[in-house]
Amino acid sequence: MPTALRERPKPFLLPEYCKGCGRCIDSCAKHCIERGSEIDPLTGLVPVTLNLDACNGCGLCMDACPEPYGLRPSEEGAGAGFELQDPAKLFGDRPAIRPRPAAIPPEAIPLPPVSPLVLKGNYASAIGALLAGCRHVFGYPITPSTEGAELMAKLMPKLDGVFLQAVSEVATVNMMYGCGGAGLPCMTFTSSPGFSLMLEGISYMIGSEVPGVFVNVMRGGPGLGNIAPEQADVKLACRGLGHGNTHAIVLAPSTPQEMLDLTRLAFELAFRYRNPVVVVADGYLGQMTGKVALPSTMTRPGLPDWAVFGDGAHRGNLVSSIFLDEKDLEAHNARLNEKYRLMESEQRADLFACGDASTLVIAFGTPARMAKGAVEALRGEGLSVGLFRPLTLWPFPIASLRALLPNVKRILVVEASNGQLEDELRLALSKAGLAAPPIDAVRHFGGVLPQSKEIAAAVRSHAEVAA
Ligand code: SF4
Ligand code: SF4
Repeated sequence: MPTALRERPKPFLLPEYCKGCGRCIDSCAKHCIERGSEIDPLTGLVPVTLNLDACNGCGLCMDACPEPYGLRPSEEGAGAGFELQDPAKLFGDRPAIRPRPAAIPPEAIPLPPVSPLVLKGNYASAIGALLAGCRHVFGYPITPSTEGAELMAKLMPKLDGVFLQAVSEVATVNMMYGCGGAGLPCMTFTSSPGFSLMLEGISYMIGSEVPGVFVNVMRGGPGLGNIAPEQADVKLACRGLGHGNTHAIVLAPSTPQEMLDLTRLAFELAFRYRNPVVVVADGYLGQMTGKVALPSTMTRPGLPDWAVFGDGAHRGNLVSSIFLDEKDLEAHNARLNEKYRLMESEQRADLFACGDASTLVIAFGTPARMAKGAVEALRGEGLSVGLFRPLTLWPFPIASLRALLPNVKRILVVEASNGQLEDELRLALSKAGLAAPPIDAVRHFGGVLPQSKEIAAAVRSHAEVAA
């Protein structure tokens, strides 16, 4: 007996449950689905519209729809006279716990060897992000970080990526919250006043454990300040990432090469710990041009199992920072604290002539370059001086410093701020229970950077001649 042919069900739409994402449009080879033009009064969203004349019931649109009640097969209840019912009655309870899909790990893709490039720091950072697999960049241009966003705006459309200029930094950080929550590598370039505006959103990202990379090319403050370089956001990045119990790894490059390398590393760390990572540069570093070698591999991003990716497989995932029960929120913070403890293993520092140094100059960013010039000159005079350069400001690289301290009689902190690096140093020493040698400072503000000559003079006033 021939089997009776059964017509495959065509889709029907519950407009109240359509978010207008367009996945169904892309999936339909018969072009039966179009973007809508009417705002649904119940949701404020714009659902798609169906014209099923050419529909063959292939079902691809229903598979593509990430919403549990968006597009459904007509045999489930649509047809003449269908009335929207409570979805729980139509389809039963939504499963509370679904197995997570398998995580897709990132892959390293080999790159052909190329000659080093000569790049501005901001461009080097953008290229580092591209090599880390970032194809989603959100931003509100602000000097002196703008070149990063400008390059991404040019490149993203050619790389099948997205550059979106937001209406403000507040919008930017919330776009990153959404994109990072979908498990995609994303970033922004900003500068001090813009970074201030992002802090609330960064707290939400940390609370929800959402990765994202913030490159803050710092400028003079407080308030509008100016567009000249400063390092005055150390306290924000290390201690002030919005409300609540927050921390993020803070990376501190000093060269265009490190702008590339540390931005790339920032993505790896952001996904390793499911947390934002902040790269703090200063305005000179953003604008400074230098030789930059490209790595031998680039990253093809994976997809974490926790991602709210918007497809059926990830439908059971939830990214949220809401824990209304007191005990639940305390347990969540305890988990975050455990993560912060693990993040403390990411301490990094660059040591220059530190082995026998009785005077240690501590600096990061462009002031560290000035300090290195001073240390080289002072070593030429026979003084036992070294440069300790934190590559992570949080966690402060106290383990490397601890090993040097038995020789150190004096520390000179050189910075373009009001002592914010020194505060991090003192806090790290105190928490580690280490006795601090006398600490002096060379500080400037507003775009005036510490100069090698004054750093050398400050060291000479106390330094010992090397043995
Ligand atoms: S069932 Fe197939 S042909 Fe019909 S609207 Fe969906 S994707 Fe298009
Ligand atoms: S895939 Fe689903 S939610 Fe997205 S536009 Fe189509 S019907 Fe709406």
